[in-house]
Amino acid sequence: MFEKLSPAPQDKIIALIAEFAADERDNKIDLGVGVYKDATGNTPIMTAVQKAEAKRVKDQTTKTYVGMAGNVGFNDAMVDLVLGDSVGKNRVRAAQAPGGTGALRLIADLLNVAKPGATVYISDPTWPNHIPLMEAAGLKTASYPYFDAEKRNVRFDDMCEAVSKMTSDDILLLHGCCHNPTGANLTNEQWDKLTDIIEDAGVFVLVDIAYLGFGDGLTDDAYGVRKLAATLPEMAVAASCSKNFGLYRERVGCAMIIGIDEPSANVTFSQLLSAARANYSMPPDHGAEIVRIILNDKDLRAEWEAELTDVRNHMVTIRKNLAEAMRKRSNSADYDFIAEHRGMFSLIGISQDDVEKLKKDHGVYMVGNSRMNIAGLGVDKIDIFADALAEVSR
Ligand code: PMP
Repeated sequence: MFEKLSPAPQDKIIALIAEFAADERDNKIDLGVGVYKDATGNTPIMTAVQKAEAKRVKDQTTKTYVGMAGNVGFNDAMVDLVLGDSVGKNRVRAAQAPGGTGALRLIADLLNVAKPGATVYISDPTWPNHIPLMEAAGLKTASYPYFDAEKRNVRFDDMCEAVSKMTSDDILLLHGCCHNPTGANLTNEQWDKLTDIIEDAGVFVLVDIAYLGFGDGLTDDAYGVRKLAATLPEMAVAASCSKNFGLYRERVGCAMIIGIDEPSANVTFSQLLSAARANYSMPPDHGAEIVRIILNDKDLRAEWEAELTDVRNHMVTIRKNLAEAMRKRSNSADYDFIAEHRGMFSLIGISQDDVEKLKKDHGVYMVGNSRMNIAGLGVDKIDIFADALAEVSR
């Protein structure tokens, strides 16, 4: 069975983690892996999460199965958190899934039942797992223009033109906020315009929202997804709690579908649950129960929101300070985009050779396409990094 197998390509970020660990330099800087780090370089467990976890241990009385949709209280709270009042709840159904990745896969399986082999249009560039994930479900993939590598902002006109040519047989995958890997995002006015174009084209939209609260705040970051939900007859959303609750390894995500009406939502949901059953039957409960507890408890929710605000402000401060540091070194506004981008990443647009030089000469590790994890920097390393970046890009 296995003799003729050749090794699967190594995940670039996992390889980078190993290289970073083996580097003995004291002043090395890890801007690679996509986890949040605080000012001391740690990825802490949020205090609201610790308290909810303790409560769960104390209060939970059984470990019996929860059902294919997972934790129902979690699903309801997530629909409120992401969609707010944008759409009537009678048209929305949600299933807990193992991480945002699991939610994307459930939706991909559902879409491949609804329209076998349909094409999913994905931003260029995107989170690398989008493509194999959609293809593993049987869907085809194609890209639409997104990032202007010169100006480091969104090629909005090109994107709109591409979307206007899509049809009701196609699927459009959008990042809800904090685009990974670029950090370049749509303004509210652009979301409004794009929504009109989507409505005219009739293309089906799947929103991947993995960084809600990491950009400009919980409500601001949900502007696009809510605008779409308020407007479109049908839609799907894959949400992740890995980053905004810091629950990475607990695998907490939520797949939401909006149907044209209540009966259609029910039928669609039955297919979504059937995909869950075929894949893993039921999602793990622990992390979802923590999120449920936090979102339903006034004090814990306030504590979580305050911690999330600190996380966001920390990244915005690093962005501002780094842009300022580069302005001084380059005597130009060439790096101002770093302050304008939002979320955990920016694609800084240096060559692969320069990325290598940063690693070799300065112990600075980032992904080969020059995606940097802003949170990996920490306020105290901004000047060291700015010196290194100025030197390699001179
Ligand atoms: N979508 C995007 C754009 C992401 O960046 C990530 C995490 N890197 C995910 C989905 C999935 O996150 P997880 O499965 O860890 O919740």
